[in-house]
Amino acid sequence: MASPLAEKIKRTIAATGPIGLGEFMQICHFDPDHGVYAARDPIGRTGHFITAPEVSQMFGELIGIWCVAAWQALGEPSPCQLCELGPGRGTLMKDALRAASNFPRLGDAVTVHLVEASATLQARQKVVLTGAAAEPVWHVDIGTLPARPTLFIANEFLDVLPLRQYAKAGGRWRERAVGLDEAGDLAFTLTAGGLDEALLPAGHKEAPDGTIFEIAPAREAIVEQIAAHLAAHGGAALLIDYGHLEPDFGDTFQAVAEHQTCDPLASPGEADLTSHVDFAALAEAARRAGAHVYMPMTQGAFLSGIGLAQRAATLSAGKDAAMQTAIAGQAERLAGPEAMGELFKVLAIAGRADLALPPFEGPST
Ligand code: SAH
Repeated sequence: MASPLAEKIKRTIAATGPIGLGEFMQICHFDPDHGVYAARDPIGRTGHFITAPEVSQMFGELIGIWCVAAWQALGEPSPCQLCELGPGRGTLMKDALRAASNFPRLGDAVTVHLVEASATLQARQKVVLTGAAAEPVWHVDIGTLPARPTLFIANEFLDVLPLRQYAKAGGRWRERAVGLDEAGDLAFTLTAGGLDEALLPAGHKEAPDGTIFEIAPAREAIVEQIAAHLAAHGGAALLIDYGHLEPDFGDTFQAVAEHQTCDPLASPGEADLTSHVDFAALAEAARRAGAHVYMPMTQGAFLSGIGLAQRAATLSAGKDAAMQTAIAGQAERLAGPEAMGELFKVLAIAGRADLALPPFEGPST
Protein backbone atom coordinates (compact mmCIF):
# COMPACT_ATOMS: atom_id res chain seq x y z
CA MET A 1 0.00 0.00 0.00
CA ALA A 2 1.42 3.38 -0.99
CA SER A 3 1.75 5.87 1.87
CA PRO A 4 -0.68 8.85 1.96
CA LEU A 5 2.24 11.13 1.20
CA ALA A 6 3.18 9.03 -1.87
CA GLU A 7 -0.32 9.65 -3.27
CA LYS A 8 0.02 13.40 -2.61
CA ILE A 9 3.45 13.57 -4.31
CA LYS A 10 2.20 11.55 -7.29
CA ARG A 11 -0.67 14.01 -7.80
CA THR A 12 1.79 16.94 -7.73
CA ILE A 13 4.12 15.27 -10.24
CA ALA A 14 1.21 14.31 -12.52
CA ALA A 15 0.10 17.95 -12.51
CA THR A 16 3.42 19.79 -12.76
CA GLY A 17 6.13 17.28 -13.78
CA PRO A 18 9.11 15.65 -12.03
CA ILE A 19 10.48 17.19 -8.84
CA GLY A 20 14.14 17.47 -7.84
CA LEU A 21 15.59 15.09 -5.25
CA GLY A 22 16.04 18.00 -2.85
CA GLU A 23 12.40 19.00 -3.09
CA PHE A 24 11.38 15.35 -2.66
CA MET A 25 13.51 15.12 0.52
CA GLN A 26 12.07 18.34 1.87
CA ILE A 27 8.46 17.14 1.34
CA CYS A 28 9.20 13.71 2.87
CA HIS A 29 10.75 15.36 5.94
CA PHE A 30 8.57 18.42 6.43
CA ASP A 31 5.13 17.84 4.91
CA PRO A 32 2.97 19.21 7.76
CA ASP A 33 0.72 16.14 7.94
CA HIS A 34 3.02 13.26 7.02
CA GLY A 35 6.65 14.54 7.13
CA VAL A 36 9.10 12.32 9.02
CA TYR A 37 10.31 15.27 11.12
CA ALA A 38 7.20 17.46 11.06
CA ALA A 39 4.60 14.89 12.05
CA ARG A 40 6.49 12.71 14.54
CA ASP A 41 9.71 12.08 16.46
CA PRO A 42 11.67 9.68 14.23
CA ILE A 43 14.70 9.28 16.52
CA GLY A 44 15.43 6.50 19.00
CA ARG A 45 14.69 2.82 19.46
CA THR A 46 10.97 3.25 18.77
CA GLY A 47 11.57 5.51 15.75
CA HIS A 48 13.45 5.08 12.48
CA PHE A 49 17.08 5.62 13.45
CA ILE A 50 19.46 6.08 16.40
CA THR A 51 22.09 8.80 16.56
CA ALA A 52 25.27 9.07 18.63
CA PRO A 53 23.74 11.14 21.48
CA GLU A 54 21.05 8.45 21.80
CA VAL A 55 23.69 5.70 21.94
CA SER A 56 25.40 7.15 25.00
CA GLN A 57 25.42 10.19 27.29
CA MET A 58 29.22 10.22 26.82
CA PHE A 59 28.83 11.70 23.32
CA GLY A 60 27.06 14.88 24.45
CA GLU A 61 29.20 15.16 27.57
CA LEU A 62 32.43 15.11 25.54
CA ILE A 63 31.04 17.70 23.15
CA GLY A 64 30.19 19.84 26.19
CA ILE A 65 33.79 19.54 27.34
CA TRP A 66 34.99 20.47 23.84
CA CYS A 67 32.79 23.60 24.01
CA VAL A 68 34.35 24.58 27.35
CA ALA A 69 37.84 24.17 25.85
CA ALA A 70 36.88 26.18 22.74
CA TRP A 71 35.37 28.95 24.89
CA GLN A 72 38.57 29.11 26.96
CA ALA A 73 40.69 29.20 23.78
CA LEU A 74 38.56 32.11 22.56
CA GLY A 75 39.49 34.07 25.72
CA GLU A 76 36.24 33.33 27.59
CA PRO A 77 34.04 35.85 25.70
CA SER A 78 31.01 37.06 27.66
CA PRO A 79 28.28 37.22 26.55
CA CYS A 80 28.55 34.35 24.12
CA GLN A 81 26.14 31.73 22.79
CA LEU A 82 25.99 28.01 22.21
CA CYS A 83 23.95 27.14 19.12
CA GLU A 84 22.93 23.64 18.08
CA LEU A 85 21.52 23.01 14.62
CA GLY A 86 19.01 20.16 14.27
CA PRO A 87 18.98 19.16 17.95
CA GLY A 88 16.64 16.15 17.47
CA ARG A 89 15.40 15.08 20.89
CA GLY A 90 17.61 17.56 22.77
CA THR A 91 19.70 14.77 24.27
CA LEU A 92 23.08 16.04 23.07
CA MET A 93 22.42 19.53 24.45
CA LYS A 94 21.16 18.19 27.77
CA ASP A 95 24.29 16.04 28.23
CA ALA A 96 26.61 18.82 27.02
CA LEU A 97 25.11 21.39 29.41
CA ARG A 98 25.37 18.98 32.33
CA ALA A 99 29.07 18.37 31.59
CA ALA A 100 29.72 22.10 31.09
CA SER A 101 27.94 23.01 34.33
CA ASN A 102 31.15 22.13 36.17
CA PHE A 103 32.47 25.40 34.68
CA PRO A 104 30.19 28.06 36.22
CA ARG A 105 31.94 30.99 34.49
CA LEU A 106 30.78 29.58 31.15
CA GLY A 107 27.27 29.13 32.54
CA ASP A 108 27.18 32.84 33.42
CA ALA A 109 28.37 33.89 29.97
CA VAL A 110 26.39 31.63 27.67
CA THR A 111 22.89 31.63 26.20
CA VAL A 112 21.64 28.52 24.41
CA HIS A 113 20.05 28.67 20.93
CA LEU A 114 18.47 25.77 19.10
CA VAL A 115 17.80 25.91 15.35
CA GLU A 116 14.99 23.43 14.72
CA ALA A 117 12.55 23.40 11.80
CA SER A 118 10.19 20.77 13.28
CA ALA A 119 7.56 22.00 15.76
CA THR A 120 7.14 18.40 16.97
CA LEU A 121 10.83 18.10 17.82
CA GLN A 122 10.91 21.62 19.31
CA ALA A 123 8.19 20.47 21.73
CA ARG A 124 10.21 17.36 22.59
CA GLN A 125 13.35 19.48 23.16
CA LYS A 126 11.41 21.79 25.49
CA VAL A 127 10.47 18.82 27.67
CA VAL A 128 13.97 17.30 27.68
CA LEU A 129 15.67 20.61 28.44
CA THR A 130 13.31 21.77 31.16
CA GLY A 131 15.44 22.55 34.18
CA ALA A 132 18.69 22.47 32.16
CA ALA A 133 21.49 24.81 33.22
CA ALA A 134 20.45 27.40 30.60
CA GLU A 135 16.98 28.15 29.17
CA PRO A 136 17.18 27.76 25.36
CA VAL A 137 15.86 30.13 22.71
CA TRP A 138 14.41 28.41 19.60
CA HIS A 139 14.84 29.46 15.96
CA VAL A 140 13.52 27.89 12.78
CA ASP A 141 16.34 29.45 10.80
CA ILE A 142 19.92 30.38 11.61
CA GLY A 143 19.27 33.89 10.21
CA THR A 144 17.65 35.08 13.46
CA LEU A 145 20.64 34.22 15.65
CA PRO A 146 21.96 37.24 17.63
CA ALA A 147 25.29 38.77 16.56
CA ARG A 148 27.64 37.42 19.24
CA PRO A 149 30.62 35.06 19.61
CA THR A 150 29.11 31.62 19.03
CA LEU A 151 29.95 27.96 19.52
CA PHE A 152 28.01 26.03 16.86
CA ILE A 153 27.42 22.30 17.12
CA ALA A 154 25.57 20.01 14.71
CA ASN A 155 25.33 16.22 14.71
CA GLU A 156 23.66 14.38 11.81
CA PHE A 157 22.06 17.64 10.68
CA LEU A 158 23.74 18.27 7.33
CA ASP A 159 23.03 14.78 5.92
CA VAL A 160 19.28 15.48 6.08
CA LEU A 161 19.47 18.69 4.02
CA PRO A 162 18.44 18.56 0.35
CA LEU A 163 20.68 16.78 -2.13
CA ARG A 164 21.09 17.05 -5.91
CA GLN A 165 22.24 14.13 -8.03
CA TYR A 166 23.53 14.09 -11.59
CA ALA A 167 23.84 10.95 -13.70
CA LYS A 168 26.00 10.55 -16.78
CA ALA A 169 23.90 9.56 -19.78
CA GLY A 170 25.04 9.60 -23.40
CA GLY A 171 28.26 11.32 -22.28
CA ARG A 172 26.36 14.24 -20.61
CA TRP A 173 25.63 14.91 -16.95
CA ARG A 174 21.90 15.32 -16.33
CA GLU A 175 20.06 16.06 -13.11
CA ARG A 176 18.15 13.16 -11.54
CA ALA A 177 14.61 13.83 -10.40
CA VAL A 178 11.58 11.97 -9.11
CA GLY A 179 8.87 11.37 -11.73
CA LEU A 180 6.31 8.69 -12.53
CA ASP A 181 6.81 5.41 -14.40
CA GLU A 182 4.30 3.94 -16.85
CA ALA A 183 2.34 2.37 -14.01
CA GLY A 184 2.07 5.77 -12.32
CA ASP A 185 4.48 4.86 -9.50
CA LEU A 186 7.31 7.10 -8.25
CA ALA A 187 10.49 6.50 -10.26
CA PHE A 188 13.83 8.21 -10.85
CA THR A 189 14.06 10.10 -14.11
CA LEU A 190 16.63 12.32 -15.79
CA THR A 191 15.84 15.95 -16.60
CA ALA A 192 17.38 18.12 -19.28
CA GLY A 193 19.16 20.16 -16.56
CA GLY A 194 22.94 19.83 -16.77
CA LEU A 195 25.89 20.57 -14.50
CA ASP A 196 28.85 22.93 -14.77
CA GLU A 197 31.71 20.50 -15.42
CA ALA A 198 34.02 22.64 -13.27
CA LEU A 199 32.15 21.20 -10.27
CA LEU A 200 33.08 17.61 -11.15
CA PRO A 201 36.04 15.75 -9.59
CA ALA A 202 38.99 14.61 -11.71
CA GLY A 203 38.19 11.57 -13.85
CA HIS A 204 34.71 12.71 -14.88
CA LYS A 205 35.52 12.42 -18.59
CA GLU A 206 36.40 8.73 -18.21
CA ALA A 207 33.41 7.95 -15.94
CA PRO A 208 31.06 5.47 -17.68
CA ASP A 209 27.40 6.20 -18.39
CA GLY A 210 25.30 5.59 -15.28
CA THR A 211 27.88 7.16 -12.95
CA ILE A 212 26.31 9.40 -10.31
CA PHE A 213 27.70 12.61 -8.82
CA GLU A 214 26.15 14.45 -5.88
CA ILE A 215 26.16 18.05 -4.71
CA ALA A 216 24.27 19.66 -1.85
CA PRO A 217 24.08 23.44 -2.29
CA ALA A 218 21.76 23.73 0.75
CA ARG A 219 24.47 22.26 2.99
CA GLU A 220 27.13 24.53 1.59
CA ALA A 221 24.83 27.54 2.02
CA ILE A 222 24.26 26.84 5.71
CA VAL A 223 27.97 26.21 6.33
CA GLU A 224 28.66 29.55 4.60
CA GLN A 225 26.19 31.20 6.99
CA ILE A 226 27.88 29.60 10.00
CA ALA A 227 31.32 30.57 8.72
CA ALA A 228 30.27 34.16 7.97
CA HIS A 229 28.86 34.42 11.50
CA LEU A 230 32.14 33.14 12.94
CA ALA A 231 34.24 35.47 10.79
CA ALA A 232 32.12 38.49 11.79
CA HIS A 233 31.45 37.80 15.49
CA GLY A 234 34.01 35.17 16.54
CA GLY A 235 33.65 31.63 17.77
CA ALA A 236 34.02 28.07 16.52
CA ALA A 237 31.90 25.31 14.99
CA LEU A 238 31.92 21.54 15.33
CA LEU A 239 30.10 19.70 12.53
CA ILE A 240 29.71 15.92 12.84
CA ASP A 241 28.21 13.69 10.18
CA TYR A 242 28.82 10.66 8.04
CA GLY A 243 30.51 11.21 4.76
CA HIS A 244 33.78 11.43 2.88
CA LEU A 245 36.82 13.67 3.05
CA GLU A 246 37.38 13.87 -0.72
CA PRO A 247 34.75 14.44 -3.41
CA ASP A 248 33.93 11.25 -5.29
CA PHE A 249 31.36 9.68 -7.61
CA GLY A 250 28.62 7.37 -6.38
CA ASP A 251 25.02 7.19 -5.21
CA THR A 252 24.76 7.67 -1.42
CA PHE A 253 21.07 8.71 -1.33
CA GLN A 254 19.50 6.42 1.26
CA ALA A 255 16.32 5.81 3.20
CA VAL A 256 16.08 4.31 6.67
CA ALA A 257 12.78 3.15 8.16
CA GLU A 258 12.55 1.33 11.47
CA HIS A 259 16.34 0.90 11.53
CA GLN A 260 16.51 -0.79 8.09
CA THR A 261 17.68 0.74 4.83
CA CYS A 262 14.99 0.73 2.15
CA ASP A 263 14.16 2.13 -1.28
CA PRO A 264 14.04 5.97 -0.97
CA LEU A 265 10.96 6.14 -3.22
CA ALA A 266 9.06 3.29 -1.55
CA SER A 267 7.41 5.00 1.42
CA PRO A 268 7.54 8.80 1.43
CA GLY A 269 6.96 10.18 4.92
CA GLU A 270 7.77 6.83 6.49
CA ALA A 271 11.55 6.84 6.10
CA ASP A 272 14.41 9.24 6.87
CA LEU A 273 16.18 10.34 3.67
CA THR A 274 19.85 11.28 3.82
CA SER A 275 23.08 11.21 1.87
CA HIS A 276 26.77 11.26 2.68
CA VAL A 277 28.28 14.65 3.39
CA ASP A 278 31.14 15.88 1.20
CA PHE A 279 33.47 17.43 3.80
CA ALA A 280 35.80 18.94 1.20
CA ALA A 281 32.86 20.93 -0.21
CA LEU A 282 31.93 22.11 3.30
CA ALA A 283 35.51 23.18 4.06
CA GLU A 284 35.59 25.12 0.79
CA ALA A 285 32.27 26.81 1.65
CA ALA A 286 33.61 27.85 5.07
CA ARG A 287 36.76 29.34 3.55
CA ARG A 288 34.71 31.21 0.93
CA ALA A 289 32.86 32.92 3.79
CA GLY A 290 36.11 34.02 5.42
CA ALA A 291 36.48 31.42 8.20
CA HIS A 292 39.31 28.98 8.95
CA VAL A 293 39.09 25.22 8.76
CA TYR A 294 40.96 22.50 10.67
CA MET A 295 41.95 19.21 9.07
CA PRO A 296 38.83 17.02 9.56
CA MET A 297 39.15 13.93 11.77
CA THR A 298 37.22 10.70 12.08
CA GLN A 299 34.70 10.57 14.93
CA GLY A 300 36.79 7.79 16.50
CA ALA A 301 39.95 9.92 16.56
CA PHE A 302 38.03 12.97 17.76
CA LEU A 303 36.32 11.20 20.67
CA SER A 304 39.53 9.43 21.70
CA GLY A 305 41.36 12.75 21.48
CA ILE A 306 38.96 14.48 23.89
CA GLY A 307 38.91 11.72 26.48
CA LEU A 308 36.37 9.01 25.63
CA ALA A 309 38.40 6.31 27.44
CA GLN A 310 38.72 8.46 30.59
CA ARG A 311 35.03 9.37 30.55
CA ALA A 312 34.05 5.69 30.11
CA ALA A 313 36.34 4.72 33.02
CA THR A 314 34.83 7.40 35.30
CA LEU A 315 31.31 6.37 34.37
CA SER A 316 32.11 2.68 34.97
CA ALA A 317 33.70 3.20 38.38
CA GLY A 318 31.64 1.49 41.10
CA LYS A 319 29.13 0.03 38.60
CA ASP A 320 28.28 -3.65 38.32
CA ALA A 321 29.83 -5.83 35.62
CA ALA A 322 26.78 -5.69 33.32
CA MET A 323 26.79 -1.88 33.39
CA GLN A 324 30.54 -1.75 32.79
CA THR A 325 30.12 -4.01 29.77
CA ALA A 326 27.29 -1.80 28.49
CA ILE A 327 29.44 1.36 28.82
CA ALA A 328 32.36 -0.32 27.03
CA GLY A 329 29.94 -1.37 24.28
CA GLN A 330 28.66 2.19 23.89
CA ALA A 331 32.22 3.54 23.62
CA GLU A 332 32.98 0.94 20.97
CA ARG A 333 29.83 1.81 19.04
CA LEU A 334 30.68 5.52 19.03
CA ALA A 335 34.37 5.22 18.21
CA GLY A 336 35.06 1.71 16.86
CA PRO A 337 36.19 1.57 13.22
CA GLU A 338 33.54 -1.03 12.33
CA ALA A 339 30.80 1.05 13.98
CA MET A 340 30.53 4.86 13.81
CA GLY A 341 34.21 5.67 14.36
CA GLU A 342 35.45 5.77 10.76
CA LEU A 343 32.36 6.60 8.70
CA PHE A 344 31.55 9.68 10.78
CA LYS A 345 33.83 12.69 10.41
CA VAL A 346 34.25 15.85 12.46
CA LEU A 347 34.96 19.24 10.92
CA ALA A 348 35.95 22.24 13.04
CA ILE A 349 35.73 25.82 11.78
CA ALA A 350 36.95 28.97 13.53
CA GLY A 351 36.48 32.68 13.01
CA ARG A 352 40.20 33.37 13.35
CA ALA A 353 43.31 31.56 12.23
CA ASP A 354 45.28 31.35 15.48
CA LEU A 355 42.80 29.47 17.64
CA ALA A 356 44.09 26.23 19.22
CA LEU A 357 41.19 23.77 19.21
CA PRO A 358 42.33 20.39 20.55
CA PRO A 359 42.20 17.63 19.48
CA PHE A 360 42.42 19.21 16.01
CA GLU A 361 45.89 19.93 14.77
CA GLY A 362 46.55 23.55 14.04
CA PRO A 363 47.05 25.86 12.43
CA SER A 364 43.80 26.04 10.55
CA THR A 365 43.74 26.96 6.86
N1 SAH B 1 21.24 16.08 16.13
C1 SAH B 1 20.22 15.13 16.52
C2 SAH B 1 19.14 14.92 15.45
C3 SAH B 1 19.56 14.53 14.07
S1 SAH B 1 18.16 14.36 13.00
C4 SAH B 1 20.85 13.85 16.95
O1 SAH B 1 22.04 13.68 16.75
O2 SAH B 1 20.13 13.00 17.50
C5 SAH B 1 18.12 15.91 12.13
C6 SAH B 1 17.60 17.09 12.91
O3 SAH B 1 17.67 18.24 12.05
C7 SAH B 1 16.16 17.01 13.37
O4 SAH B 1 16.06 17.67 14.61
C8 SAH B 1 15.41 17.77 12.26
O5 SAH B 1 14.14 18.21 12.62
C9 SAH B 1 16.38 18.90 12.02
N2 SAH B 1 16.28 19.56 10.72
C10 SAH B 1 16.25 18.99 9.49
N3 SAH B 1 16.23 19.92 8.51
C11 SAH B 1 16.26 21.12 9.13
C12 SAH B 1 16.30 22.48 8.68
N4 SAH B 1 16.26 22.77 7.39
N5 SAH B 1 16.37 23.47 9.60
C13 SAH B 1 16.42 23.18 10.93
N6 SAH B 1 16.38 21.93 11.43
C14 SAH B 1 16.30 20.90 10.55
